[in-house]
Amino acid sequence: MDRTWHPQHFRCSHCHIPISTQKFHIHNDRPYCVEDYAFLFLKKCQGCKLTIKDVVVTALGHTWHPDHFVCVSCGTKLLYKGFYEKEDNAFCTDCYEGKYCPKCHGCGGSITDTAIKVSDKKWHEDCFKCGRCRRLISGPTFRISDAEVICVACGEGGGDGEQNNDAFSYVEKWDGE
Ligand SMILES: [Zn+2]
Ligand SMILES: [Zn+2]
Ligand SMILES: [Zn+2]
Ligand SMILES: [Zn+2]
Ligand SMILES: [Zn+2]
Repeated sequence: MDRTWHPQHFRCSHCHIPISTQKFHIHNDRPYCVEDYAFLFLKKCQGCKLTIKDVVVTALGHTWHPDHFVCVSCGTKLLYKGFYEKEDNAFCTDCYEGKYCPKCHGCGGSITDTAIKVSDKKWHEDCFKCGRCRRLISGPTFRISDAEVICVACGEGGGDGEQNNDAFSYVEKWDGE
């Protein structure tokens, strides 16, 4: 700032109090007292509604203090972590997957990527294995017996031979629905 003012003329451009002795900010070449500058120009935290003076986190179309951008479910800080957005709320990975992701019938874990769906059950691609030889099953040819998936090789001799399963389908990229 190179300009000089008469002290009596150096006033906050917003509330007009003299600010010759206080801290102040210059915005668009005009002086503002600290309070008005924060109120007028600084971002507000969506969490605590106060102005953000240091690091601003932008997420979900809002701005946040780094410490106030947290999982709505468990309160974990989400900065520097992956998070999921659901209905305008931010969730940590654990909460989101626990709440919204389908569960794998094989390992019991959450499925966040491609799932294999047979009737009403879902599997991770890596968990869709023959219940007898533990080999991965990669096509729609297998049998289901006693809720166990059986590959063609292991199913042979079981009586009714190969079976094409109409209910088999890949489901790509769960988006929480
Ligand atoms: Zn002011
Ligand atoms: Zn805050
Ligand atoms: Zn959480
Ligand atoms: Zn699994
Ligand atoms: Zn097998």
